Amino acid sequence: MTVMRGRQFFQNPGPTNIPDRILRAMDRVSMDFMGKEFAEIADFCFAGLKRVFKTRQTMFVYASNGHGAWEAAVVNLFSAGDKVLVLETGRFSASWGEMATAYGLKVETLNFDWRTGVEPAKVEERLKADTARDIRGVLLVHNETATGMAHPVAEVRRAIDRAGHPALFLSDTISSLASIDFRMDEWKVDVAVGGSQKGLMLPIGMGFTGVSKKALDATQSATLPRAYFDWRLMLGRQPQKFPGTAPVHHFYGLAEAIKMLDEEGLDACFARHRKLGEATRAAVRAWGEGGGMQLYCSNPRLYSDSVTAILMSPGIDAETIRTTALDRFNVSLGGGLDSLKGKVFRIGHMGDLNEPMLLGALAAVEMSLKVAGIPHKKGGVDAAMAVLAN
Ligand code: PLP
Repeated sequence: MTVMRGRQFFQNPGPTNIPDRILRAMDRVSMDFMGKEFAEIADFCFAGLKRVFKTRQTMFVYASNGHGAWEAAVVNLFSAGDKVLVLETGRFSASWGEMATAYGLKVETLNFDWRTGVEPAKVEERLKADTARDIRGVLLVHNETATGMAHPVAEVRRAIDRAGHPALFLSDTISSLASIDFRMDEWKVDVAVGGSQKGLMLPIGMGFTGVSKKALDATQSATLPRAYFDWRLMLGRQPQKFPGTAPVHHFYGLAEAIKMLDEEGLDACFARHRKLGEATRAAVRAWGEGGGMQLYCSNPRLYSDSVTAILMSPGIDAETIRTTALDRFNVSLGGGLDSLKGKVFRIGHMGDLNEPMLLGALAAVEMSLKVAGIPHKKGGVDAAMAVLAN
């Protein structure tokens, strides 16, 4: 086996690079999770998370990944047989819908083209047609990590309002939180679902839900079985609303992440991601002039600033690039998911990332294209530098 020196360039769309500061903050002995010191850290984290979600409402934290937080949203709001409308725009929105089906909900899917994304007018049309008000929830993934597309949550909210529909509005912000602006209260999102391992730069293992007053009211009449994730039980728990032993070390890491975000400022953090996203897209466009690939997202209004999916031309296996980048250059990229496997590879550009790190990864991709003999035009890295040096 070849020994690889230096750091692996971790360019996955989650998990992301964990800054040393966060690792150091977590490097500590066990402590009493009922004690005063931990209570202060947890309070700081809950308040900080609310700033990041841009909400003044209720925040729940779980020892789980994003799937856990998805599940918390479903089981606390609905009853078997309830109808929900899934706005399908890629693999993750489809998976959330599958979870709702597994819990006995009637899932109606509005299928949008995965390359062009959600169309708010169609959401409005469907909700207007629901004169019996059977639809209890609308499920949207803000940033589809599988396709590299960031949806206009505010526009979908306005579509729901124009239809005058009372359905709860659920939005996954797992790969947008702390990378792309998300405004839970302003956009009247009833449940916002997040996870630790993306923009928050933490290890996997914490799930979050921001919950509106309307959603908390709905949980009282919901009858799906729930125990660990039961918001009613969590609200009654002191000193922190946490189910069971709190993952103290994760909270220390989260506190450090919040401090880092406060130091940078959320707007500066979003602007950094925007620039990294633009640079990545510029590189892909330049390579694509050689014919082998194009941006998967074909709707420029919805380009994601945290992940770029690259669609290979027919006959070219996207996995070849991913494995070449990993085996030869120690750069970890994302692959295509499910139906996009082999067709798409993904470059994550979220979290603790700066311009030279991105350029290193893009250079490794360009070298991998050459090594693997994939048609492309040279100069992707130059195109990215032109964006970054601006
Ligand atoms: N939603 C989105 C948009 C995601 O990107 C992911 C994971 O990548 C998930 C949900 C699922 O999160 P997890 O893998 O932490 O369960």
